[in-house]
Formats: sequence, C-alpha cells, structure tokens
Amino acid sequence: MEIYLDANATTAVLPAAQQAALAVMADSFGNPSSIHASGLRARAVVDRVRASARRVLDAPAGQLFFTSGATEGIQTSVLSALCELRGRRDAGETAAQALLYGATEHKAVPQALHHWSALLGLDLPVLPIPVDRTGRHDLDWLRRNAPTAGLVCTMAANNETGVVSDLDAIAEILRASPALWLVDGVQALGKLPLKLAERGIDYAPFSGHKFHAPKGIGLLYVREGAPFTPLLTGGGQEGGLRGGTENIAGIAALGAVLYAMEAGGVFQTPALLAAHRDLLVQALRESFPGLVFNAGDAPCLPTTLNFSVRGVSSKLLLDLFDAADIRVSGGSACSAAKAEPSYVLQAMGLDAWQGQAAVRLSFGALDSPEFIAAACARLRQCGEVLRARGLGSAAPAKACDQPLPGHDAQGSFAAACKDAFLPASDAEKCALEIDCEAAVELHRQGQVLWVDVREGYERDVQAQTGLLKDARAVPLSSLDSALPGWLALAPQVPVVFYCRSGNRSAQAARALRRLGHACAWSLAGGLAMWSEPELQRVADAAAH
Ligand code: PLP
Repeated sequence: MEIYLDANATTAVLPAAQQAALAVMADSFGNPSSIHASGLRARAVVDRVRASARRVLDAPAGQLFFTSGATEGIQTSVLSALCELRGRRDAGETAAQALLYGATEHKAVPQALHHWSALLGLDLPVLPIPVDRTGRHDLDWLRRNAPTAGLVCTMAANNETGVVSDLDAIAEILRASPALWLVDGVQALGKLPLKLAERGIDYAPFSGHKFHAPKGIGLLYVREGAPFTPLLTGGGQEGGLRGGTENIAGIAALGAVLYAMEAGGVFQTPALLAAHRDLLVQALRESFPGLVFNAGDAPCLPTTLNFSVRGVSSKLLLDLFDAADIRVSGGSACSAAKAEPSYVLQAMGLDAWQGQAAVRLSFGALDSPEFIAAACARLRQCGEVLRARGLGSAAPAKACDQPLPGHDAQGSFAAACKDAFLPASDAEKCALEIDCEAAVELHRQGQVLWVDVREGYERDVQAQTGLLKDARAVPLSSLDSALPGWLALAPQVPVVFYCRSGNRSAQAARALRRLGHACAWSLAGGLAMWSEPELQRVADAAAH
C-alpha cells in the first residue's frame, strides 16, 4: 500500500467529488451563460456551490468567485491592490512606500508583487516581513512598517512548516494602516476558521486541490468595497469579475467537498487529526533518534510535520521513504550533488544542517486511523533499516553537522569518470533509455546484465517484490569500482542500469558509454514508472 504523506502538495480527490464532476459532464454540461434549460441546470450547479462556499468560509458578503487555483487568485488580488495604489498615487494622495509579504509566503506572492509592480510602473520596494525561529511574523517590524505600506501579504498557514500566522494580531496592526491585506488561505481551508469579515481581510485566495477537489479549480474572496480589477476579462462571466466559461466539472467537484465539510462525518475531526499527529510524532521520534521538529513549539496545523534528522540528508530520507512506498516532500530542492536549503527554513534562521536535512510530512483529513497506524509502522521499518546500516543514529554533533550524502556526494564515481560526466544532450539521454518492450527484446537477443544503482538502504525497504532479483546491486556511490569489469565485457552484452526515478541509472549508463561500452542502457522512468506486470514480463523474458 502506498503511504501518501504529501497532502500539502496535493490531495487525493474525494470520491464524491469525482462522481460530481462526472455527473455534471454527463448531465449538466450546458454553458451557465446560456438561457435554455441546459444552461440553467449548469447555472444552478454554480450558484449552489457558491452558496455553500459562502457558508463554509463564513463570507455572506463580499465577492466570492471561482478561479483556476490560488496562483490565479493571488495574481488577481495583487493586480487589484496595485491598480488601486497607482490610482491613489496618480490622484496625488499619499503614495505607498512599499509592498510587504511574509518571508515564508508561497513564491507566487513575492513573484506576483514584483511582476505587477514593474508592469504597472509602480516599481515599489517589495520587502519581506522577517519571521522568528518558529516561522512567526515579526510583529514589531510589521507595526513599524505598516503605516507606509500599500499592500501586506500574510499567509494563514505555511505550506512547508504548517506554522499558523497570528492573524488577529496582524489585523490589529493593520487597522490603523491604509494598506490592503491579502491572506493566502490555501493551507487553512477546512482546517482553520479565517474570520474573513471580522478581521477585515481584503483578499483571500483558495485552491481546490489542496483539500480533496481536483486541480484547476479555486476560489477568490474579495471584501465588499475592496478595490478590484479583473485579471481576465471576456464574456462577462462571474458577474464580470472573471471572464471565461466556467469550469463546471471543477466547480461541481469543489461543491461536493464543500457539502461534505458542511455535513460533517467525512473529514476527520480536529481531535482525531491531533491524535494522528501525536502518533506520527511518536513514531518519528522513536525511529530517528537525532530528529528535531523545525517549527519548534509554534502553533501549527496538526497535519504538517517538518523535521530534520541530524546526520541524514533530506535526499537520503526521501529516497529511503520512496523505496518504502512512503511519499513525503523534501524541505529543500535537492540534486545529487547539492541540496539547496528551503527559503522558508532559511528565513526562519535555522541551522544549515536543519535546512539540508529537512523533510515535510503532511497527512490528510481523509486519512483513517488504520492508515496512520500503517504509516507509523512503515516509518519504524525505515528507522530500523537506517540504524542497521549505521545511519541516522545521534552521532556526536561535530561529525554530523554536515548531513550524510544522499548518494555519491564524495563524487568518487564522478572523479573516476571525469569526462564521462560532461552534460548529456536531451537526444543522448533519450537514446540511453529503454522501456519494457525494449528490455524484453534485449533478453530475446541474449544475455543481459541488470545493475541496480540504488543505495543498499533503498533495497532493504523496497516495496517492489524484487522481480529483477538477479540484478547486481552496485550503488552509484561505488560504481567506479565496478566499471572496469563492465568495460571488459564483450561489446554486444547489454548492461541495463535502473534506480528509483531513472536519473541515477541514466548517469551510470551515460558514463559507461562514454568510457567505451556502447551497449549501456537506463530503465526509463526508473522503478517508479514500472508496474509489477511489466517487471514480471521482463523477469519472465530473463528466465527463458
Ligand atoms: N499558496 C500556498 C500556501 C500553497 O501551498 C500553494 C500551492 O502549493 C499555492 C499558494 C498555489 O496554489 P495553486 O496550486 O492552486 O496555484
């Protein structure tokens, strides 16, 4: 069973939402702008879902309309606010001096601020509001800067750490400021009451796919009286707020999620989510002795755990978890050679090792107690494997300040192959890859040497049944010692490398080819893309 613990990236679509989307595509496919019966049925779907959204978000007043997702909602909000600021400036009113955003906002926010400020000729400074070590906004800084700000953007809850912003305190500060206020509500939907009206929030974007609706549907709330400029203009849909024929299937699916929230009994209660969190915390602590939680004791969404294991890079943990069929996110953007720490954790001023080792585990409001129990058991299994291989135990601080490499960080293979590591063109990469059919064909032609270049700890936890069990196990980090043997093979003997995603195996195949053995291949997409029947076909071909 796949243990999907990456709900902050996206969530599974609620079965009722899938059915609702299919049903409108079959029965209410009309254009909501048409005045005949088909159009009226589609219009009724849109109206019903909007009414439900108003109840769920407690937003009886103001504008609430459907978008393609939060990125669009953010653009629309920023464009609206900045057009207003430009109008105020042109009218000779006191001009805003800066645009402010929380240093840990989703990238869509600062990107939109820079983009629209430049495009509208405002060219205002775009300043990050500092956060403390637990990721919470520096409210004194905000108090000092709010009086001259034009727009303030503060997310309700952070997608990487789950840290919840103090929106009441921010509302209090902004009450005396002319600044408009954007609150990214994406991670809060269904988890936190936003009190949009009470707090005087001007703009709040939401995204369906973060809470069990499909991708491509979202919502934007705009306070009654807040400035508004449409991002998309066209046929006057959504009361002229957003042109373009409505995404009825997406709206219907979002509706099914909203109805389930209203009805109760589908999503887990806050108490159960907290219990799930406690179980996962306990399992993580017991499994990984050097573990710290990166948000410290800040108030957090119960569903998000961001942690670092002293001495173990996020790349290593991600590979290990993925091999064990546990899906999580790295808190950093990793490549084999280099791990870029997350800007969120950097803004929090965490130690470098925490940034390089960060992992985000986020579970969902649909996850059952049985699922969480299975997740805990799988995490414990991963911990055992790491300990058995002498990794991830709380070693002396000095030795562990640099996380252990994911793979080949010492570059031993790279050093041995030097020129073989010159970048490959896309065509070269394509030419290296083989699919199931090609692998079977290779076996028909004769002997094939399979090489699993994953690390030993990945094989230890692998969920796949090991159909390629005759493969040689040579991790990329020690490939250099095996290269001479393969170079001595007859030229026509194929060497097929495989790994989890196809990246390491492509690296290995490319190097072997460049060193002189032309018959080197990489399994396209890695084990992640191969189904058990496909692997079985290859194993059968190998057996004959
Ligand atoms: N804001 C936050 C906090 C997010 O987590 C995300 C998605 O990762 C977005 C905005 C962008 O949302 P969408 O994918 O709907 O454009």
